[in-house]
Amino acid sequence: MKNLRGTAGASVDDRGSEGAALASSICVRDDVRAMEAYPVTPAEGMVKLDAMENPYRLPEALREQVARAVANAAMNRYPDPRAPTLQGRLREVMQVPPEAGLVLGNGSDEIISIVTQAVARPGASVLAIEPSFVMYKMSARFAQVRYIGVPLRADFSLDAAAVLAAIREHAPAVVWIAYPNNPTGNLFDDDGIERILAAAPGLVVIDEAYHIFAGRSFLARLPEFPNLMVLRTMSKVGLAGIRLGYAAAAPAWIREFDKVRPPYNVNVLTQAAAEVLLDRMDVFEDQARRIRAERGELMDRLAEMDGVTPFPTDANFILARVPDAPRTMRGLLERRVLVRILDGSHPLLANCLRFTVGTPAENQLLLAALGEAL
Ligand code: PMP
Repeated sequence: MKNLRGTAGASVDDRGSEGAALASSICVRDDVRAMEAYPVTPAEGMVKLDAMENPYRLPEALREQVARAVANAAMNRYPDPRAPTLQGRLREVMQVPPEAGLVLGNGSDEIISIVTQAVARPGASVLAIEPSFVMYKMSARFAQVRYIGVPLRADFSLDAAAVLAAIREHAPAVVWIAYPNNPTGNLFDDDGIERILAAAPGLVVIDEAYHIFAGRSFLARLPEFPNLMVLRTMSKVGLAGIRLGYAAAAPAWIREFDKVRPPYNVNVLTQAAAEVLLDRMDVFEDQARRIRAERGELMDRLAEMDGVTPFPTDANFILARVPDAPRTMRGLLERRVLVRILDGSHPLLANCLRFTVGTPAENQLLLAALGEAL
């Protein structure tokens, strides 16, 4: 066995290469070394329309209220691991059915990872529709769980029959359904989801990250389905920076996921800020109304452009097909507009770009740049 400790007296460069050698030879899994990190393009000075963020900041008075709450938080102490005050506020504000349990995450990303780790028995599989949010697959890879992707139809609707066939064949421990779906933006029909819930031998997670823009939800239906978990995030609502996700399901599921959850995963600053902000959902609802109105406007303008096919959306972004997505992406970047290119990530997304709905001014900049970059 090689010595894992750094060599005293070695230069930083030596240690760097020694570290690299160690990582490749004995420590880091081959599949991890072969992976790419989640791509985040630097956005300094760009019109940032790539990550489905809410473009509006909080009103000044509310920011000051958050600042006071955060200043009073006990930063010298670990957070309460179950965040009871925050959980109570979330339950009330989001109308979580009283019989459901709740687990909080450092973003909903973390909850996806926790669920995947908890089911990662030898031979276990998880299933997701494709194309969808990449972290379902990434988390499966990290946890060495078999991943099954079931394609949507060409119009991005849910192929429930194909999902049911894959469920019969693989008996997945988890089925992931983003509702609305990312990156396609559409909701799926409830009938197909209900059939999947009835057939799945394990957990079905309805990921409602974009709920505030869609207005449809399975949360109130938790008591009907013992194998349903509803996953939400505060990110798209307008709080991507504080990292807070939550999931509701029957308490028996939540008890197990809580064991895998790092105990202090939601920090005191996030808890303090969220407790204040959950009392002001009116601010976020108002911003979401503006974003939905802008989405309609942007959709109309995109549909008028020659060669651009925008797809119907219930989220705060629009997927659109263009004649040559890599060329258009380069043109947009040259004009300092950052969007997401999906071309190459899945056969159904050939020549597709995804535009987050921004402020009216940002959307104008996008449309002007797009007109030149097509
Ligand atoms: N679910 C879906 C469908 C998403 O699109 C995203 C973010 N793009 C997430 C979950 C993760 O969000 P967060 O970790 O910010 O809560």
